[in-house]
Amino acid sequence: MLDRREQAVLARFCEAVVPGSSPVAMSYVDRAADADAVRAALDVVGPHLPVSAKIEDTESFRYLRNLAIEAFYGDYAPPGHDPAGHEVIGFAPPQATRLRKDWSFLDTPPPPGPAPRPEPAEVVVVGSGAGGGLIAAELGRRGHDVLLLEAGGLHPAEDRVRFELAARHQLWWPVLHTGGDEPVALLAGRCVGGTTVINTKVAMRAAPFDVARFATETGSRLTLDDLDPWYEKVEHRLGVRVRDDWTPSVHRVRTGFAALGAELDPVRSYTDYTCSRCGSCTTGCPTNAGRDTLNTYLAPAFARGEVRLRTHTTVTHVTLDTSARPRVTGVGYRDRDGTTGTIAAEKVVLAAGSLGTPQILLRSNDYMALDTPSTRLVGTTLGLHPARLVYGLFDEPQDCHLVYPITAHCLTHQEDFVVEGTTIQEPVSFAAGMVDALGRPLWGAGLAAVARDYRRFAGLLVMANDENTGVVGVDPSGATVITKGFSPLERRRLVDALTFTVGVLRAAGARKVVWSGLSTSHVQGTARMGADPARSVVDDRGKAHGVDGLYVGDGSAVPASLSVNPSLTIMALAAMVADNLAGGLS
Ligand SMILES: Cc1cc2nc3c(=O)[nH]c(=O)nc-3n(C[C@H](O)[C@H](O)[C@H](O)COP(=O)(O)OP(=O)(O)OC[C@H]3O[C@@H](n4cnc5c(N)ncnc54)[C@H](O)[C@@H]3O)c2cc1C
Repeated sequence: MLDRREQAVLARFCEAVVPGSSPVAMSYVDRAADADAVRAALDVVGPHLPVSAKIEDTESFRYLRNLAIEAFYGDYAPPGHDPAGHEVIGFAPPQATRLRKDWSFLDTPPPPGPAPRPEPAEVVVVGSGAGGGLIAAELGRRGHDVLLLEAGGLHPAEDRVRFELAARHQLWWPVLHTGGDEPVALLAGRCVGGTTVINTKVAMRAAPFDVARFATETGSRLTLDDLDPWYEKVEHRLGVRVRDDWTPSVHRVRTGFAALGAELDPVRSYTDYTCSRCGSCTTGCPTNAGRDTLNTYLAPAFARGEVRLRTHTTVTHVTLDTSARPRVTGVGYRDRDGTTGTIAAEKVVLAAGSLGTPQILLRSNDYMALDTPSTRLVGTTLGLHPARLVYGLFDEPQDCHLVYPITAHCLTHQEDFVVEGTTIQEPVSFAAGMVDALGRPLWGAGLAAVARDYRRFAGLLVMANDENTGVVGVDPSGATVITKGFSPLERRRLVDALTFTVGVLRAAGARKVVWSGLSTSHVQGTARMGADPARSVVDDRGKAHGVDGLYVGDGSAVPASLSVNPSLTIMALAAMVADNLAGGLS
């Protein structure tokens, strides 16, 4: 609970940074934020009010700005106040207007009773996203005893509504930022189905030049011919189809691409023909038209009793027997109430995503004590496929929040960057990501003016290729540290990508162009696959070099950062890993 002086400083800050937010921000911050963290941030920003350039780029400024944005553009309404943010920007999708918002997710839930201790398993799969969901279901289908451990909860489509803050709380990991040259927001899902539940479901196979890099980076012997059958199986299961149902906003920006001599093509995606183009993808598809690993692979497996699921279980480390040739013996985990335990398993598949899997390995004393070239590589080759959203303001409403967000892409410059559209983020993400021309978070009247035009912006997502130069580490206190330094080539690509996309929107008739800071939805490559143990963590079939029974089956294994959306390749590799693993089980 903040004292009166602190409340006054907070109210002044919120109103200056997000005009209109002060009536609701106090109650929101009280419910949603940690008072000590707020106090520490106020100590930094307080002496510089009204806001000065000295604090604009500080962590404290970003933290408090985000809270004010969540309160206002998240449409929060404490008793006695009407919500205002959505009305100001004209955000009124049918699903959100008929929604009676229940904000109880902001309150700390009572601690759950102790969860039952899990039985040992033949195979423990850690993480239920693109890779882990598929592997658990495939092994279960073949009759193996599979226990699937997931840090998040089970939230099937019938529980999902277009309620951004609730979705961010229930389906997303808290958004972290990289340290290093320039902050990159890291976006990922935390629920059964993982990031596939909140993604936009574009289905791309790797380009031949992407797969050629596998060999140069890690000595991988995988070829596109090896991957083809796995791609086919996954595409069939997901019902991949062409999305040529372009809305007027796509036709509008197409003229800009054509003016710059570039092509705009329909994407392929794993969305059903029943997709109502409601724009809810990143808050979880409410109709199951979006085909995530929960509704494709896992739900049938659960229904048939082929996979045991344990939610809200965070795996902390793997255990090994190193008395002879190292071999996995199980995992250590932590429950929601802080209880810790271990589970014995013959095989362990790590599929906790490209940020989660390396952290588990780095916290595994038995594994790190092996001190081999492979163990020393863990986490050091993070690929981000860094992206930004570039928005063009048009005279007429574009309503890009009411479309399937990615129906078209431009691959003309694929060796450097790819552009997708048309889209706009949900109001909180939109406002929070917005930066000024110098890359500083936008605030005050500038932010309010941009947000007011929400319905008239058409957005393009531009993703630049990268060279796996990020690092996921764990510091001596046990805290996660994620850093990214950009190479000159990566910098050039980012500049070219932005220049091109701004040019497209201007050529399409945009009156004004604004953009977001960098973010990534495509983390990859932190426990890479390859034939050379000095340059990879697992072999070409996903088995850890030098350790029996330990596998990696998620985006971490991708040998070199892809130029395309990665989930189809992650699933193709996972299908291959599952097949290999099943072959080695009795
Ligand atoms: C907004 C957004 C849009 C995207 N759009 C597309 C797209 O259109 N096309 C595309 O190809 N890709 C897209 N992606 C990326 C794609 O969804 C991911 O690349 C893919 O899901 C990654 O698969 P994964 O198995 O590596 O990890 P995830 O799918 O992230 O699954 C990892 C799972 O492990 C769990 N976990 C993490 N740590 C632990 C732990 N310690 N213990 C237990 N469980 C743990 C997580 O909660 C999560 O459920 C998008 C991503 C985002 C964020």
